[in-house]
Amino acid sequence: MKDSIANLVRSNIKHLQPYQSARRIGGDGNILLNANECPIPVVFKTNLTLFNRYPECQPKSLISFYSNYVGLSSSQILVTRGADEGIELLIKAFCNPRKDAIICCPPTYDMYAINASISNVETKEIPVFHDTWQIDLDNIQRNLDKVKLIYICNPNNPTGNIILKQDIINLLDKTLGSSLVVIDEAYIEFSSENSMVELLKDHPNLIILRTLSKAFALAGIRCGFTLAHKEIINILNKVISPYPIPTIVTDIAIQALSKSGIKNMKDRVSTLNLNRHWLVNELHQISWVKKIFNSHANYVLVKFHMFEQIFQHLWNKGIILRNQNHKVYLKKCLRISIGSYSECLRLIEEIKILSNK
Ligand SMILES: *Cc1c(COP(=O)(O)O)cnc(C)c1O
Repeated sequence: MKDSIANLVRSNIKHLQPYQSARRIGGDGNILLNANECPIPVVFKTNLTLFNRYPECQPKSLISFYSNYVGLSSSQILVTRGADEGIELLIKAFCNPRKDAIICCPPTYDMYAINASISNVETKEIPVFHDTWQIDLDNIQRNLDKVKLIYICNPNNPTGNIILKQDIINLLDKTLGSSLVVIDEAYIEFSSENSMVELLKDHPNLIILRTLSKAFALAGIRCGFTLAHKEIINILNKVISPYPIPTIVTDIAIQALSKSGIKNMKDRVSTLNLNRHWLVNELHQISWVKKIFNSHANYVLVKFHMFEQIFQHLWNKGIILRNQNHKVYLKKCLRISIGSYSECLRLIEEIKILSNK
């Protein structure tokens, strides 16, 4: 029985290494600094009681709130089950299996390549420059054959840097008519001045991904947005499932996007950015720290001497970080999500104990 099922599986799925999400990897911790979640919980209430009707496919009220928040027309917005669904829908809609390709620029978020692989679409990996973490435009341009989508994460996860706006504009110009450029802005609220939303006006091949999972502290409701020209949104509306957004998700997302919800989000972002500065400062004084990469998001990438010992020691103490050692250029690097002040303090205390031994 087991054998026959194995024979039925598509060959690209048989050998697929699934995304190692923080929840999948586990770690029996009480200080979870491995998924870039917001450490400050926010209480939401709902008065909804009846759920016998299907929800709207694209809830107009929610789109209208996001439209006010982001300054785009409703026709340029698609609501999705997290930004992850946006990544997936784009490949479904634009990439022919075994024919087309996507580009991504490692080290970066893994889900672009994993979704492509599930769809039997080739991923061309064009690494960023090692010294600057900026995209290699010439190399991308030499590899555009068959490429429908170019995924760029900004700020990049896990390095934390911002991609130069001029590079993105050049890329948009060079690929107009042949590829779409997808900017993943999952962390943009932590450095909102770096958003590329303004570029949507003049660049019809630009797509932007957003989420409520990070700065809005709503990873648990799975709500994201794809921003693009109306023609692209219409195409994505053909492939999205009929009722992707649960009624209760819309109810809570609307509260998060109200005037007070947005103000609270901005206060949280200020607090977390301050915590990041504090943490980076403290890390600079620890002898086992080899390098701290400048971050514009709610995490920081750190290269350690003895990284394995640090990772394991903290793990045993219930402080869970994200190991990046396996990624290109990231030997001995750990990604630390910015926690509450007391969590950052605990982390520093534990690393100090270890490195002074
Ligand atoms: C967390 C994350 C996402 C996923 O966001 P969801 O809305 O929770 O699906 C997408 N892109 C990047 C770069 C992320 O880090």
